Amino acid sequence: MAYEAVKYTNGKGDLQDGLTVDQNPIVCGKCGAEYRLDYSPGESSNLANLRACFQSMQKRTTNKCPKHQPSLAVPNVPFLQ
Ligand SMILES: [Zn+2]
Repeated sequence: MAYEAVKYTNGKGDLQDGLTVDQNPIVCGKCGAEYRLDYSPGESSNLANLRACFQSMQKRTTNKCPKHQPSLAVPNVPFLQ
């Protein structure tokens, strides 16, 4: 099981083999850099929680501007489960 937030440029990102791209990105409020949630099939039952954790990264991602990483770990927030 795997998941991460991957930076996409012009709709293209460095997608790992076997991962699925979620359709709702988070976007940097300063430069428009876009991250999408990539996840393995084993995570599909946990997807609502993963999406909530991913969306919680929005503010932190904007604060990192302009030093955006190609990919970011998605924090697992237990109280959302
Ligand atoms: Zn930015």
